Amino acid sequence: MTPPRRHFDALILGAGGAGLNAALQLANADLRVAVVSKVFPTRSHTVAAQGGVNAALANALPDNWHWHMFDTVKGSDYLGDQDAIEFMCRQAIPTVYELEHNGVPFSRLDDGRIYQRAFGGMTQAFGGAQAARTCAAADRTGHAILHTLYQQNIRAKTHFFDEYFGVDLVRDDEGAILGALVLEIETGEPLLIEAKATLIASGGCGQLFRTTTNAHINTGDGMAMALRAGIPLQDMEFFQFHPTGIAGKGMLITEGARGEGGYLINGKGERFMEHYAPNAKDLASRDVVSRSIASEIRDGRGCGLDKDHVLLKLDHLGPDVVAKRLPGIRDLCRTFLHIDPVDRPIPVFPTAHYVMGGIPTDRFGRVVTPVKTGAEEVIPGFYAAGECACVSVHGANRLGGNSLLDILVFGRAAGQDIIKYVHDHPHHRPMNEASVEQAMARLTRWERRGDGLDVAVLKVELKKVMEDHCSVFRIEDVMREGVAQIKGIRGRLPEARLKDHSRVFNTARIEALELENLLDIAMATMLSAEARQESRGAHSRIDYPERDDANWMKHSLYRLEGDHLEWKPVRTKPLSVETFPPKPRVY
Ligand SMILES: Cc1cc2nc3c(=O)[nH]c(=O)nc-3n(C[C@H](O)[C@H](O)[C@H](O)COP(=O)(O)OP(=O)(O)OC[C@H]3O[C@@H](n4cnc5c(N)ncnc54)[C@H](O)[C@@H]3O)c2cc1C
Repeated sequence: MTPPRRHFDALILGAGGAGLNAALQLANADLRVAVVSKVFPTRSHTVAAQGGVNAALANALPDNWHWHMFDTVKGSDYLGDQDAIEFMCRQAIPTVYELEHNGVPFSRLDDGRIYQRAFGGMTQAFGGAQAARTCAAADRTGHAILHTLYQQNIRAKTHFFDEYFGVDLVRDDEGAILGALVLEIETGEPLLIEAKATLIASGGCGQLFRTTTNAHINTGDGMAMALRAGIPLQDMEFFQFHPTGIAGKGMLITEGARGEGGYLINGKGERFMEHYAPNAKDLASRDVVSRSIASEIRDGRGCGLDKDHVLLKLDHLGPDVVAKRLPGIRDLCRTFLHIDPVDRPIPVFPTAHYVMGGIPTDRFGRVVTPVKTGAEEVIPGFYAAGECACVSVHGANRLGGNSLLDILVFGRAAGQDIIKYVHDHPHHRPMNEASVEQAMARLTRWERRGDGLDVAVLKVELKKVMEDHCSVFRIEDVMREGVAQIKGIRGRLPEARLKDHSRVFNTARIEALELENLLDIAMATMLSAEARQESRGAHSRIDYPERDDANWMKHSLYRLEGDHLEWKPVRTKPLSVETFPPKPRVY
């Protein structure tokens, strides 16, 4: 069967902050832009971002973009590319003002300027006193940003394909990306969207792990599509565990809670972060705080009957601060824990949160991949931005508030570059029909119904493998066993069947396609983690506890074909300032 076709100047896969900020540039430039999203756009995970977005506005305390850049390079454990980091930190300031002018209802200081709170890993004057750099709309910043961007896109006449599922990319004979095969979820009908340029903005893959702050839709679909199109994924071993997920459940308690003065205590009532990070204490970088919590629990100083969590204290802040600055957190605790954080501390545990790795891009959002000569090549007409991309500005560990910034800055940059690209390449290129057939085959493969292995069971198994074998602390043997188990699940996938129940058939098929995607991402993560024999940022090896710049200051690249790993250098040269050389990372 050949699917019907639609033609656009640009196709954007994903309607989170990255996709919508890119779309807005294109629609405002009068390009025909299609945005495809598997959920209604304002349900994208960006809506869940609580704490805020970083920009050195200096509204609350002294600040400038160069200090922000230093903190980001140090936070990345020196694996971030310094040209992209400089670009992002400079662009942060106009980006936040642009959001303000587009209508984002930021919280305000008494003098009317945008409110800024303290977040982890942020300092004044290159490692000095705590900075206040995170611009917030109470604890619902992502909600405010996403709704504003959606409204602006409606005004600019962006064409939305809501509740369409992206199945696979389609290419021409030379490997250029020419659009994607998508599926209308309600009807199960396929549609081919042909575009002169394609941007993947499909968000993260937190569904890899059993306990996660991420939405059910975060299954790394766009990353897996890139893998299948022959593009490697970069730095997949670096997965951030947020220190304060609600214990046993995973919902996020924003770092802003500590930014407002909250702190962690162990089973003895001690404020243990003082021992691990004497200066920054509870506002040390996320990887540091997560490891400290895991160590306290491992050493028997956890809280509760099973000593399996620690407590986050907010009760000393008083009801006014909690009501004004953290109203969403209070709601979450009342709903899911039946406690009020104004009176009682919150049980927390490190929880899978954010993928630092992704589709390799340059700072214009263009997908770049090394070729045999070692040089990098831009894939024509192919872009990625947001959590699915790896620019790389977060390196081995992302600072809180830098992801909303990343998606907005690089979503915008990609949009601007696509405008130029479409201007220079005004015609649709002829498609390779074999790549359409390949994409269609993914759909027909999942018409297998009846009794058999259940897709949902395999998914639960995969998430458990990831949690047990590739979590906060890692060790060689355990990861090798993890690789074998993922291969086992891969091998059993062909036996899986969709339950023969026509009313749920469409969504069941999508769950199966998502599982295929997750499996490839899981392999990328576990193999890259097994290979990196050092501890850097969020990647913490018990068997290699030190950072090893001589051998490992390089990015990993995983290719699907042959489960192959290769490496590429870190770009240490910024655009206009001196390089920040690697130093021991203490907080
Ligand atoms: C609970 C939580 C709180 C956070 N708080 C903060 C914070 O305070 N500050 C901060 O800087 N960062 C925060 N982050 C991180 C940040 O919010 C995310 O990294 C960022 O919003 C991701 O944006 P995105 O545009 O890349 O993707 P998303 O917002 O995740 O959007 C992805 C889009 O892709 C679409 N999509 C995916 N696959 C397909 C497919 N196969 N077919 C069609 N469409 C598809 C989805 O429908 C969606 O529209 C938080 C994250 C979480 C989970």
